[in-house]
Parts: sequence; structure tokens; C-alpha cells
Amino acid sequence: MSDNVPAQIVPADGEGIAAAVAALRAGALVAVPTETVYGLAARADRDESVAAIYRAKGRPDFNPLIVHVADLAGAEQLALVDARARVLADAFWPGPLTMVLPRREGAMVAAAVTAGLPTIAIRCPAHRVMRQILRESGLALAAPSANASGGVSPTCAAHVAASLGGRVGLIVDGGDCPDGIESTIIALRAEGGWQVLRPGPITADAIAAVIGQGGDAPSSNRIEAPGQMTSHYAPGKPVRLNALTADAEEFHIGFGAVAGDYCLSADGDLAQAAAHLYAALHAAAASGRARVAVAPVPDAGIGAAINDRLRRAAA
Ligand code: AMP
Ligand code: MG
Repeated sequence: MSDNVPAQIVPADGEGIAAAVAALRAGALVAVPTETVYGLAARADRDESVAAIYRAKGRPDFNPLIVHVADLAGAEQLALVDARARVLADAFWPGPLTMVLPRREGAMVAAAVTAGLPTIAIRCPAHRVMRQILRESGLALAAPSANASGGVSPTCAAHVAASLGGRVGLIVDGGDCPDGIESTIIALRAEGGWQVLRPGPITADAIAAVIGQGGDAPSSNRIEAPGQMTSHYAPGKPVRLNALTADAEEFHIGFGAVAGDYCLSADGDLAQAAAHLYAALHAAAASGRARVAVAPVPDAGIGAAINDRLRRAAA
């Protein structure tokens, strides 16, 4: 794919979805809406297609990809789904929960998807458009966030076009992503414990309510997996956290009573703040200000995921 042909943005209607399905089947990259963020999708079973994802993002090849499936049966073709995983799938799929499971021997996935790990990360997304694409294509789709590696994740089609430009041929425009923050990633340990590798919309408490406590301390700050990089989601300027006020050189991202230049949620609603987080970081990046300051955000519920992303944006 040439770098200077601008991506075609198509609406998420029958025709747009059919174009996406045809392109994906042919092995091309397509940016697709999900409930979390926009994904840069390719068929997971083809080496060249998966290689094209890494190339378009400039993503290091030791950072494995999440594979998206239409349903539990799709997951079972690729991974060993034990009783706990089944209970979690029952509770949270389709939805923003990614499970790291033992890879099934002979699974039809390109080696680069798992970056040489014996495990595979799998998710069954809830977004209507992504679900239709998965169903109609009959494919499992590798789909990391549709942005240049290390940058701010995209929550609308325009963000994708700005970040990947001509490196993706087709963008399916499904509007704003409702959750706005990447999926929770959980590792289920063979010995019975579990750990959150990346906090997200499904909280550790919600998971514990279904399968019991994990045993180990929550590990959101520990580098557990390749790709849980310290610096990520970066707007390309210095970011200062817990800022109740900002100076003239700072773009101030507010929360609750702190209005700032862009308020994540004036009502102090954390789900709304998550949905607005990346749009705020994109606005901060595009602004004329040299630096970014962010108001404190409580750590409760999905606030843990927001603060995880903010810490990495500031690192
Ligand atoms: P992204 O696709 O950008 O949302 O990132 C996917 C995340 O999933 C990365 O941070 C990886 O570290 C993580 N991941 C993917 N596959 C595995 C795996 N097999 N084991 C642990 N983490 C994984
Ligand atoms: Mg990403």
C-alpha cells in the first residue's frame, strides 16, 4: 500500500461493510470501529496480512496482537478455553474483555500474531459493525488499535485517517467508539489464579465477582507481557498529571469541577471520561500549546484504566 494514497472512508452501511469484508478476505488492512477503539484489522491466518499490520503501525514485532472472533466457537478454534474462561465469556462476551489463553496446537494463526508466545489473546467484540464484519467474513481478525505505534488511540474515523493516512486503504466509519478505551486484558494462570495485564472497561472487581479473587496482587503497573510498554498513548508533548490548574503554555484536560480547555466529564462521570479521553489527547496534540496538563481522575472503576493510560501518556 502506497503511503500517499489517502484512505477511503466508507459509512458502516451494508455496502461499506461488504467492501470491508471483501478487502479483508483478500488479505488487505481495514480500519474498523469497535466498542473500545478503532482497530486496524487483518485476517489473522495469513502471514503477509499480519506483517502488514506491524508495518503500517511501525509496531515492534515482539508485541503480540489481539485476535477478534465472532463467538465462543471461534475462540475455541484458536485457544484452549477452560471452564473459567467459559464462565468469563458467558458473563462478558461479546464485550471489552480480552483473555490470554493457551494457544491451541495447529491453530490457524500467523506466527507473528502471538510473537512466538505459547499463549494467544482473544476477544469477542460487541460493536454491531465489527460483529457483522466478523460474521460475514468468517475470519478471525487480528486488530490492534488503528494508530501509529506508541501514539494516541483512535476513537473516530478522522483520528485513524490522521494517524495512519495512506497506510490503510479503507476505513469503516462507525462514529465514535462508545467505551473509548482499550479492552481489559486478563491472563488466566494454569494454577488457578488470574491477573489483569491491562485495566479496561471491565474492572477487576467485576471479574472477581464472577470467578473469585485472582490470588496475586493486581499487576496493572508491572510489565507482564511484551508490549505493555511504559510509554504509550503519547500525544507528542510533555504531559503533567494531577494538575488542578495549568499555565498559559499548557493545554488543560479537565475533569469534574476542573473545566480546563477540554473537560473529560463535567459531571465527574468516569465512563463518559473514558469515552472522551483519547479525543482530549488528540485535541491537546493538535493545539498550539507546548505541553499538556491533566486534572486528577479518581481511580475507582474504569478510572483505573483511565489513569493507566494517562501514566503511560506522561511517561
Ligand atoms: P493492542 O492490540 O495495541 O491493544 O495491544 C495488545 C496487547 O495485548 C499488547 O499490550 C500485548 O502485550 C497484549 N497481548 C497480546 N497477546 C498476548 C499474549 N499472548 N500474552 C500476553 N499479552 C498479550
Ligand atoms: Mg494500541
